[in-house]
Amino acid sequence: MNVAIVGAGIAGGYLAALLAQEGLSPDVFDPMAHATRCGCRSCGWGAPAGIGPYLDGIGLDPDEYLLEPMPSMHFDGLLATTPLRTVDKPRLLRDLTRDVPVQRRGLEPEEAEQYDVIVDATGIARALLPPCSSDLTLPTLQHRVVAEPRGDGRLEAGVYGNDVPGLGYLWVFPLGKEEYHVGVGGIGLASLESLMERFYRDMSGQCTLTRLCGCRGAVRVASPYYSGPLYTETRRSDGSSRLTVGVGESIGTVTPFTGEGIVPSLECARILAGRLQDPAGYSRAVLAQFAWMRRERETLDYLLAHRGTNGPRVRDRWRFYRNARRSGIDLPMIEAFKQLGTLSHWLDTPER
Ligand SMILES: Cc1cc2nc3c(=O)[nH]c(=O)nc-3n(C[C@H](O)[C@H](O)[C@H](O)COP(=O)(O)OP(=O)(O)OC[C@H]3O[C@@H](n4cnc5c(N)ncnc54)[C@H](O)[C@@H]3O)c2cc1C
Repeated sequence: MNVAIVGAGIAGGYLAALLAQEGLSPDVFDPMAHATRCGCRSCGWGAPAGIGPYLDGIGLDPDEYLLEPMPSMHFDGLLATTPLRTVDKPRLLRDLTRDVPVQRRGLEPEEAEQYDVIVDATGIARALLPPCSSDLTLPTLQHRVVAEPRGDGRLEAGVYGNDVPGLGYLWVFPLGKEEYHVGVGGIGLASLESLMERFYRDMSGQCTLTRLCGCRGAVRVASPYYSGPLYTETRRSDGSSRLTVGVGESIGTVTPFTGEGIVPSLECARILAGRLQDPAGYSRAVLAQFAWMRRERETLDYLLAHRGTNGPRVRDRWRFYRNARRSGIDLPMIEAFKQLGTLSHWLDTPER
């Protein structure tokens, strides 16, 4: 079977490693045209401890990629224990394809003919599959900063949603050596820059911030259910069929509430590796595995449709709470439910 993987990000790179283990040698294409200091797509590099078994499974030591653990984090004033950490994503991306050469270019249309299976692992670009049945993307802006503590103050790891008018949040992820990713993402926000500037002003008493770089991006928060078709079949000139199948963010394996896509995309690649020639079975497995993403997406749709006039329903609050628990974030339930009530003011709050 001739397999091409287009895109060597988390999902494409991991799929290549899994297939290589099975003795398949896919051709991997990625121009890696990222004008960013870290050389990969804009990402906070946050992941739960659950990333470990995926890396173990292909012979990578998870500890080698650990930058900073986040044993406690601020969630809009609530302090929670978490299994989250930041990982050295550029290094991980390099090592995923250590045994599979990556061609630093895209796949030319005339080359497609030679492949039985072409995997669309192009993330937000979704370069090969038709558009999603009902796409939803969330624009982002992220900076890498050095934050030197002032007196007793310091920049704390956290997620700040109540400061962001609109459906989104601001995050602070430590990268070690006083470096941090500070980012903001949201739907319907007039200016991501002004939210960042405001946050920096608010933090100026606690630390001295120096910006190293910044990049814009977007996350697909549509969920797999609304990212169909997950695959297409076309006839080749000799009458045989060719499969184009999506994996990772190209088919929406990203948590709609948080934009977390690293571990879900690893899981999606794992599912595909076992079902490369069974696209219908693969689709069913992906939709079943990530059924909860569909429900999160439907909460986003509800909040967007009511544009702040209706706050989250009980089921929406429960979904937010379940989302945190799924990531192993230990939030006190009653307090968390109260906090989520503040979402009812979203979009009504003018940007300061
Ligand atoms: C600002 C921001 C912060 C984020 N923070 C986090 C976080 O902290 N934790 C988390 O879990 N998730 C985070 N995410 C989401 C996460 O980065 C993605 O969901 C995840 O990387 C998806 O992996 P992927 O392999 O599907 O896609 P990607 O990692 O985007 O990889 C796609 C690859 O395809 C390549 N490509 C694109 N077009 C073509 C083409 N035409 N031909 C060939 N190759 C192509 C690209 O170069 C890229 O290497 C964040 C996203 C953003 C935008």
